[in-house]
Amino acid sequence: MKIALLGPPGAGKGTFAQMLEDEFKVKRFVMGDLLREEVKKKTKLGKEIKNYIDNGVLVPDEIACNIMRRKIKGKKNYILDGFPRTLLQVKSFKEDLDKVIYITTKNEIAISRLAGRRQCSKCHRVYHIKTNPPKEDGKCDFCKSKLYIRTDETEEAIKQRLENYKKETEPVIEYYKKKKILVEINGNRSIKEVYEDIRKLFKW
Ligand code: AMP
Repeated sequence: MKIALLGPPGAGKGTFAQMLEDEFKVKRFVMGDLLREEVKKKTKLGKEIKNYIDNGVLVPDEIACNIMRRKIKGKKNYILDGFPRTLLQVKSFKEDLDKVIYITTKNEIAISRLAGRRQCSKCHRVYHIKTNPPKEDGKCDFCKSKLYIRTDETEEAIKQRLENYKKETEPVIEYYKKKKILVEINGNRSIKEVYEDIRKLFKW
């Protein structure tokens, strides 16, 4: 099965993609993490990507598509998180997705989630200081690496990311709705409740 998770920043895509990977042992590919990996390498491309990410702007479609295409080449089962995010990405991706899960979230809930978010610097697991805290302060439960606050989790960048989402990603949702492969999930609830609804959709 080829699945994509869509929804605004703060919808919980990363958390649910991780939970699905853990439960169903299907690899997830997280566009944001793949881009941040490139930034870490400090290559010319990485520096260019960092500039877009820190300002909350989408990375050019060609760069995002090239990275994702390389990753999923030849794979029959995967979960995509944060891709495709624009209609151009949909068109150039050319993969037939089986299901697109759209996690709806109110703006104020998304913003409060982003404000408390912490991420593992190594395995990229996502935590929240209030709703999903790590067992040990500042450390990943799984690989014990340091948790960090993302550089684009500033008020300005968050505002920009929510705007991008409206302008660029909502048309993608409409596209998959018309294709009748979109499943809408109410993301304004606890992690447990939302995940219970998502996992019912899967038969790997
Ligand atoms: P995320 O981790 O999904 O919140 O993404 C963080 C940032 O990475 C976004 O604000 C964009 O700058 C970039 N990004 C993530 N996914 C994409 C994508 N599909 N296309 C272009 N840029 C992306």
